[in-house]
Amino acid sequence: MGLFKEGGEHRIQDLGDDQYSMTISIPADEDGRMARECPSSECSPGYFKVTSGTGIADGQNVAYCPYCRHEAEPNDFSTQEQIRYAKDMALREAHKGVNDMVRNALELGSSGKKKLGGGFISMEISYDPGSLPYVHRPFEDEVRRDVICPHCTLDQTVFGLATWCADCGEDIFLTHIEAELAVTRLMLEDVERRQTQLGKRVAAKDIENCLEDAVSIFEAAMRAIVRRAMTVRGDSADQIESSFKKLGNAFQNIDRTQKELCSMFSQDPLEGAISEKLKSAFEKRHPITHNLGVIDRKYMKRAKELEQEGREIRLTTHEITEVLIDVQMAISLTYEKLIKIS
Ligand SMILES: [Zn+2]
Ligand SMILES: [Zn+2]
Repeated sequence: MGLFKEGGEHRIQDLGDDQYSMTISIPADEDGRMARECPSSECSPGYFKVTSGTGIADGQNVAYCPYCRHEAEPNDFSTQEQIRYAKDMALREAHKGVNDMVRNALELGSSGKKKLGGGFISMEISYDPGSLPYVHRPFEDEVRRDVICPHCTLDQTVFGLATWCADCGEDIFLTHIEAELAVTRLMLEDVERRQTQLGKRVAAKDIENCLEDAVSIFEAAMRAIVRRAMTVRGDSADQIESSFKKLGNAFQNIDRTQKELCSMFSQDPLEGAISEKLKSAFEKRHPITHNLGVIDRKYMKRAKELEQEGREIRLTTHEITEVLIDVQMAISLTYEKLIKIS
C-alpha cells in the first residue's frame, strides 16, 4: 500500500510512481474571504483577498493582481501562508499513511497490539501512533478595503490603492476611490450624533479628520494617476523617482497640483473645474494638521481674506461634504485626461 490512502476529504488520487494528487481547500476568513498574493516579487503590497462565490463563476483560467495586473493561473496567487498550510495538511495525511503502514507491517490489527511467540517467553508489541500534528490555519492581515467590481461582481479586499479587478482584470481605480470617499462620507454623517453624545470638541476633531482624509485621498489618487501616466508614456523608473522627489507634497495643495500637472504633462486637466471653496478647504487643513489646530499667522491672514469675502473660517460638515464631491470630480477628471485618453 502507498503512503496516502485514496479518496477522503482531500480527494487523494494515486497517480502511480509515488505521485499523488490531493485537493486541499484553503479556509476563508470569517467573512468568507480568501487571501491571495501576487507571484511577482517586485509587486507591492501584492496582497489581497477575494470572496468565493462572487466574480467570474466558472472556467476561470487567468486571474490578475489588483496592483500590477500580473496575469497568472488562479492557483499561482496562493499566499506563502496558504502554501505552508497545504504542505502541513499533506504532511498530516502522510503521517496517517505512515501510521497505517507501521500497523500493517507489524500486523497489529486495530487494537494496535500483538502477541509474539507463546509458550515460555511472550512479548507484546504495541505501536502508539501519537497525535496527528496540529495544523495552524493560515494567518492573514486584518487591515482591509473592500470593493465590488462593477464589471464582474467580484467582492475583493485590497490594501492601499489598487487599480485592477482580480478576476476580470478591468480598470476599477475609480471604484476604489469612490469606496474610500464613501468611508469618509459615513464618518461625516455621524458627526451630529457624536456631537450630541461626546461634545463639540470631539465633533470638531471629527470634521478636521474628515478634511484630512479628503486631502489624503486626493494626494494618494493624484500620485497613483501621475505614476501610471508616466509609466504609460514610457518614462524610466529613475525618471519617475526623481520627479516624485521633486513633487514632495505638492498634491496637498490645489494650486500647486495644477502647476505640477501642467509642467509634467503640458496640460492642466483641472483647468476651470476647481471651485475656490475646494482650494480654501485644502488650505484650512494645513494649520489644523501642523499646529494641532492652533492657527498660525499665515492662516490668520488667509482667514481674514476669506472673512472679507463673507466666507466661513470654521470647518462645517456641509463644507466637507462638498469637498468630498469636488475631490471625486477632480480625481475622475484627471484620470480621464491623463489615463483614459493616453
Ligand atoms: Zn502584483
Ligand atoms: Zn471584475
